[in-house]
Amino acid sequence: MTKLSVVVPCFNEEDVVELFDARMRQVLDTLAVDYEICYVDDGSSDGTLGKLREIASLHPNRTQYASFSRNFGKEAGMLAGLSKAVGDAVVIMDADLQHPPELLERMLELYHQGHDQVIARRTREGDKKIRSALSRTYYRAVNRWVDVELTDGVGDFRLLSRPAVDALLSLPEYNRFSKGLFSWIGFDTVTFDYRNAAREGGETKWKFSSLVNYGMDGLISFNNRPLRMALWLGMMLTGLAALYAVWVVVNAITQGVDAPGYVTLVAIIVGLGGVQMMMLGLIGEYIGRIYYETKRRPHFLVKETHRSLGSTTAGRT
Ligand code: UDP
Ligand code: MG
Repeated sequence: MTKLSVVVPCFNEEDVVELFDARMRQVLDTLAVDYEICYVDDGSSDGTLGKLREIASLHPNRTQYASFSRNFGKEAGMLAGLSKAVGDAVVIMDADLQHPPELLERMLELYHQGHDQVIARRTREGDKKIRSALSRTYYRAVNRWVDVELTDGVGDFRLLSRPAVDALLSLPEYNRFSKGLFSWIGFDTVTFDYRNAAREGGETKWKFSSLVNYGMDGLISFNNRPLRMALWLGMMLTGLAALYAVWVVVNAITQGVDAPGYVTLVAIIVGLGGVQMMMLGLIGEYIGRIYYETKRRPHFLVKETHRSLGSTTAGRT
């Protein structure tokens, strides 16, 4: 019998985690699988950990949980869950029931047909108009730049076969942009659509600024093409400046000298200053990443676990 692990990162989800657990087990019990649910409490400041303890005492054999010493982010939560999961297939799900548990049956079916990654792609119905328009534009722009294919609506909700999980775990980088990593590892991938549900309780952890930051990560995490772009922009501007200088000289010779243009000058200086700052910032982003990578710090620290979740010390994978 297939063993299925369900990985659930939770950050301040006390309002929904029990509901999630109940619905999840209801669905899992109808499927012909052996299963475990692996919760990762990502340093919640509410009663999430307490709820997880209760769940674990109700279903001691089919539950794992790990609780982080602080909030390390969803990427770290997923990584912890993946590294602790023992199933032949692993599904990653949000705790807020936006990922309908009922889709598991379909996912398993596709897994049994031999696919290594089964991706559930959400339609953007029910999203704020502006947010879905922004993300569409973002994906269109970003796919020109990055080496991997990023698709709008494709998130972390997916089933991974054991080989795919092991491949992900073999990527040691500290800055993890999972959307890209999932795509980078390849394997036989299949995608199907589902209607996104509204959150069952609690609230989203994404502020606008964190979305913008996430978008930047996507651009910068996969190659150095943005740096190449800086180089091109620099060359273009230098070329333009040279042409302009020639034009000024020719003009001065043929028409005589005449020196208005104060505003133009200021605009050019300020504009170029802006471009330079941006490019410096871009270089800084890459150097910052190198800095974090060289520290080789663990992705997360675990303070409490239930069942095979190992020791209470650092969880490097
Ligand atoms: N999450 C997490 N750590 C964080 C932020 C979020 O583990 O720092 C979890 C959260 O508990 C939920 C999932 O990631 O299970 C998705 O978060 P959310 O629903 O806030 O994102 P959205 O659905 O709005 O994209
Ligand atoms: Mg959500």
